[in-house]
Amino acid sequence: MKLVTALLLCVLLPAMAVRAADAPVYYLLWFDTEDYIEPAADDAALRLALELEKMGVRATFKVVGEKARVLESRGRRDVIRALARHDIGYHAENHSIPPSPAVYLKPLGLLEGAAEFERREGHGVLDIGRIFGVTPSCYGQPGSSWGPQSNIALRRFGIPVYMDEGSHVGLNSQPFWYMGILHVFGLGPNNMRADINNPARIGEATRQFDRAAAALKNNSGGVIHTYYHPTEFVTTEFWDAVNFPRGRYTAPSDYKRPNARTPESSEQAYRILLEFVRHVKQTPGVRIITARELPQIFDSPHQMVDVTKVKQRFAESIDIDGAHSAADQLLALLGFQSRYVDGPAGRVDSTVTATSIPRDLFNRGKQDAIESIERHNRLPSHVWFGVERLSLADFAATLAGDQGGPAVAVRRGKLDFERHVAADARRAFNWAIHPEGFEAPELLELGRLQAWTLKPARLR
Ligand SMILES: [Zn+2]
Repeated sequence: MKLVTALLLCVLLPAMAVRAADAPVYYLLWFDTEDYIEPAADDAALRLALELEKMGVRATFKVVGEKARVLESRGRRDVIRALARHDIGYHAENHSIPPSPAVYLKPLGLLEGAAEFERREGHGVLDIGRIFGVTPSCYGQPGSSWGPQSNIALRRFGIPVYMDEGSHVGLNSQPFWYMGILHVFGLGPNNMRADINNPARIGEATRQFDRAAAALKNNSGGVIHTYYHPTEFVTTEFWDAVNFPRGRYTAPSDYKRPNARTPESSEQAYRILLEFVRHVKQTPGVRIITARELPQIFDSPHQMVDVTKVKQRFAESIDIDGAHSAADQLLALLGFQSRYVDGPAGRVDSTVTATSIPRDLFNRGKQDAIESIERHNRLPSHVWFGVERLSLADFAATLAGDQGGPAVAVRRGKLDFERHVAADARRAFNWAIHPEGFEAPELLELGRLQAWTLKPARLR
């Protein structure tokens, strides 16, 4: 056996080394197609779709529900057809008509928030289906109007990918799994765009792209993305900042059109974007894909967990380990086959003060936790032992440290994976359309609880 292993390594190692230096780099170009007020934005979307098609590049157009309906009512079948030849994602029902998602999700818990998101944003998904003939490939929030509850609703909509930018959650500036949804989010240095107002800066943008691509190629590969809005190519200010600043409501009859670019400035913007994308397309080893192709380039999120390793680690630090989320590891400790379950809906403290729990009582609590997970497809926020309870963190650490004796020593769990969720609620929700000073620490706290499910997405 040893000889066979050694021989296999001789064959495999050089191959792996070659592969590492040549790891795949994927590039996503996406457009938040949202301006339903300025008709010139329809033409901008059309022009971008046609020019990119000519270049042999497929982009992802994340369309707002109201925008899709407006294209239809303005009779812009030409725009709808041109966009449909690219990929179609979703970018909320109304985008900026108050209240935006983070505002209405803030006072709601996990499940009530998911139901509310589904009720408010579901129409647009159906309208996109009717108008473009597809289920959107992905979703991304308007501005920074993020809430973790949206992910449960996305699963119900059959939307497998979350693609946007934001600081709410992130993992090593690369795609990750979170709440059962593949996320392209928080890409940091791998999120880039050329300044469409300044031709002198194209070189800067292409060099930044080359650096990011080279770094990924020399590592284990990865994803780079760029996003724009079609409306940016024809206006000098955002349509929603003009009509819904700080969450102000404006009736459709009073909508004001944003300031237009001059034709020269518009032409220059298209030219710069296309030049940048041409550079990306010509870069060896870079493949341009759409959001719809994303799930195929990543490994299954369900991988075998080594329970012995979890027992050693969890008592010290509850954290992501390789391709496994904290939830994956806890499920393995409880004897589950690899599957997806949500993180807890709340944070409940421990009340157990004893240093150990008798075997029979511990087993009873453990069995109760297993049944709860099976029933709700969600980790419990706490586990009962008689009338005392352990928080999920303390339960996980205690379970990991169980030596099988007549009593189980109580341990305190340290949730190290929570560092991947933003702490600064003011900064995370900063957006011109949110009310002045808006912050939603409640949503970040829910996001932290759901980080039990966070883990890297590994390229196939
Ligand atoms: Zn937007």
